[in-house]
Amino acid sequence: MTITTREIHLAQRPSGLPGPETYRFVERELRELRDGDVLVENVVLSVDPYMRPRMNDVKSYVPPFRLDHALDGGAIGRVVESRSERLPVGSLVRHQLGWREHAVVADRFAQPVELNGHPSSYYLGVLGMPGLTAYAGLFDVAAFKAGDAVFVSAAAGAVGSLVGQFARLAGAERVVGSAGSAEKVALLVDELGFDAALDYRESPIEPQLAAAFPDGFDVYFDNVGGDHLAAALEHIREWGRVALCGSISGYNEAGTPMLPGNMFKAIGKRLTMRGFIASDHGDLREEFEAVVGQWLTEGAVVYRETAWEGLDAMPEAFSGMLTGSNVGKAYVRLLPDPA
Ligand code: NDP
Repeated sequence: MTITTREIHLAQRPSGLPGPETYRFVERELRELRDGDVLVENVVLSVDPYMRPRMNDVKSYVPPFRLDHALDGGAIGRVVESRSERLPVGSLVRHQLGWREHAVVADRFAQPVELNGHPSSYYLGVLGMPGLTAYAGLFDVAAFKAGDAVFVSAAAGAVGSLVGQFARLAGAERVVGSAGSAEKVALLVDELGFDAALDYRESPIEPQLAAAFPDGFDVYFDNVGGDHLAAALEHIREWGRVALCGSISGYNEAGTPMLPGNMFKAIGKRLTMRGFIASDHGDLREEFEAVVGQWLTEGAVVYRETAWEGLDAMPEAFSGMLTGSNVGKAYVRLLPDPA
């Protein structure tokens, strides 16, 4: 059977926010299946910040996207043809060939997904990579313990909204988040149980943080870098811990995001600052899925997501997420979930 797919290629490397010229929609015939392959029809596609630095020709922990090749990223799809005993026709799989409608995937690169009553998109979010990022970053990297006061940036997003709630459920003294609109700030306090939230677009973050934590805080979960990291360094307590998760304020800038000028504060305050990548924390996956799955079932975690529809919406979803149009996890839905 010959299958044609539509996929999105990187037409040129963006400078600043990616625009329509960044992408090319291409129709392409997929190769025949070999032993162990499955043909997957994608159902939901992930939209993640790390994809933006990958559009630059810069060495990092993942190679840059190649010009004139399909972009890739997390996706959940349904197996429609199979030469794998492990992955029969009709099963759902999580894999890395997003940004396209169909893909031929070798079964070692596809994990079966049992929905367990949740929508498929949850396995790209709260029960997927962003959920593990929040869990590993808070409990392992930042060594959170009950009684800690926690500040998290990009707090209304996929990772940040979970960090704040996980900290609260695990006995934080106080949880404060920052976000980019009055609506997001209200959501954090009214629905997600944060003790306070700061709108960094309304006024500079540093004085707001000082007022929110007159006695400082123990843990900063950094999703933003730049002004947020600088402000956190001013107000974190001695012996504080910083989980360096992301630096989204610099992703659309040319070159590598800069560190703040007050890094010196880390010395006198004896801070532990640790960068991390979620995929290094696979050892926590089983525990994370059990704990967070239970919290979701109990309704202890409020989970939000923002969906766009159809492959054509992928570029808009991506720049929308980079500029804050999303609440919770951003993704694109191509097909309804299988019944
Ligand atoms: P989000 O769902 O949080 O979406 C990104 C959000 O970033 C936007 O909604 C926007 O919200 C905020 N933002 C954009 N520009 C700025 C800015 N200049 N200053 C402050 N906030 C800004 O994405 P994720 O939860 O998926 O990712 C959050 C962070 O975590 C990113 O830095 C990402 O790279 C990182 N990450 C790291 C991983 C790792 O393994 N280390 C894994 C996954 C994510 P707002 O309206 O509030 O501005």
